[in-house]
Amino acid sequence: DVRVRFCPSPTGTPHVGLIRTALFNWAYARHTGGKLIFRIEDTDAERDSEESYQQIIEALNWLGLDWDEGINVGGPHGPYRQSQRSDLYQDVIAKLVEGGYVYESFSTPEEIEARNTAAGRPKAMGYDGYDRHLTDEQKAAFRAEGREPVLRMRMPDEDVSFFDVVRGEDVTFKVGTVPDYVVVRANGQPLYTLVNPVDDALMEITHVLRGEDLLSSTPRQVVLYRALLELGVAKVMPQFGHLPYVMGEGNKKLSKRDPESNLFHHRDRGFIPEGLLNYLALLGWSIAPDNDIFSMEEMVAAFDVKDVLSNPARFDLKKAESINATHMRLLEAEDFRARLAPYLREAGLVSADSYDSLTEREQSILTEAGPLVQERMTLLGEAKGMLGFLFTADEDITYDEESLKQVDKIAERVDILDRSIELLSGLESLSDPHEVQQALRGVLVDEMGVKPRLAFTPLRVAVTGRRVSPPLFESMEILGLESSLVRLKRFRE
Ligand code: GLU
Repeated sequence: DVRVRFCPSPTGTPHVGLIRTALFNWAYARHTGGKLIFRIEDTDAERDSEESYQQIIEALNWLGLDWDEGINVGGPHGPYRQSQRSDLYQDVIAKLVEGGYVYESFSTPEEIEARNTAAGRPKAMGYDGYDRHLTDEQKAAFRAEGREPVLRMRMPDEDVSFFDVVRGEDVTFKVGTVPDYVVVRANGQPLYTLVNPVDDALMEITHVLRGEDLLSSTPRQVVLYRALLELGVAKVMPQFGHLPYVMGEGNKKLSKRDPESNLFHHRDRGFIPEGLLNYLALLGWSIAPDNDIFSMEEMVAAFDVKDVLSNPARFDLKKAESINATHMRLLEAEDFRARLAPYLREAGLVSADSYDSLTEREQSILTEAGPLVQERMTLLGEAKGMLGFLFTADEDITYDEESLKQVDKIAERVDILDRSIELLSGLESLSDPHEVQQALRGVLVDEMGVKPRLAFTPLRVAVTGRRVSPPLFESMEILGLESSLVRLKRFRE
């Protein structure tokens, strides 16, 4: 049975590339009926933070990506935080030492560099295998000098190859290109290079699907795994697949410093999980040549890691937004308005985060206004600009600069406002938006001769504060006759 894992290091904010990795592992587990294991690789006390750890969990929860074993849910291979697994590692280390898979190495970085220079080897060669054959006397002499050894993994004297399920072919690292690497520090602390494959082995992982940036550590992982298989620590050699890089502007890797790399940046702007997940899925995968829009159920049904493309994927915000807009349109009206609430709250426009906790008045405005904007919004964050006027007192409406300039260009603006106020004052209500529009059109366009395109602009800005708004007459209906008139008069002055 398929067992995949998501094993982030809790440093910084969740990167979209990291979450794409989580998504692909999740989709593969769900597609195959396998298990997703979520563990945390917090072995670097200097860089790891509790905040980052919480944020990763928050990101997965927000997106609805669930897991079967690991953090918060437990399972038979716990604990699932590496910082709590030291005893298990010491056990495996003892076996590796005993089996001769690792050896003590006393060379300092300076000594290694000096030897490489003397032998005319390039600096990038790294460690030269010098300590492989130290005698007990030599080791004792180093210890007498006060040196403590690191443990290095013995790389084989032959090429290391593995099949990459994403590329669909073998990847080979030539003999001598991967130096014997450190698995345990001089202070006894195991490194990522050891604990990552050891945990994969103990957790019986069948597929290691991770970012292309980790490709260079895969030959090491494979060699360590072979040792673990021989020692009986591992049961199966996993298959490896490297998910393509996510590129940002200028065809450079989407950097951690780029705000677009932060998953929460997109959430805060108002992506909905459905839209963002759909877009993240397209970073290296597609469901069909002519279809970019799909649900997670559809992805799960179709996803196979073999179909992931190995060439770099470009993060295209415009495309992500248009996909999000499509998913927003697909929401039920009730669902859509419920999702607007936290964004309106964040903007200080309503009294609560959840629709159910809003006041009756807020609820009724939102219920009426939701359908007016659902087709027009790309991101939930636009709710502030689009709907703010409905939750603002008449005397507090502010007018967008650019919109005011447009109004100033309309020569008949004062007459338009006067005639509109006159007409509306004679009405009982605005409950038939179509009729109100026809009546105003009769006066402004037919009688006054204002261009239809411009006739309603001053009204729109007066009522909503902006040129871009939900449909004007429906908006006025929600506000009511009295409030609409107050706004027109206020703008007239
Ligand atoms: N902890 C590693 C990272 O965050 C993941 C390693 C892996 O997926 O094998 O980069």
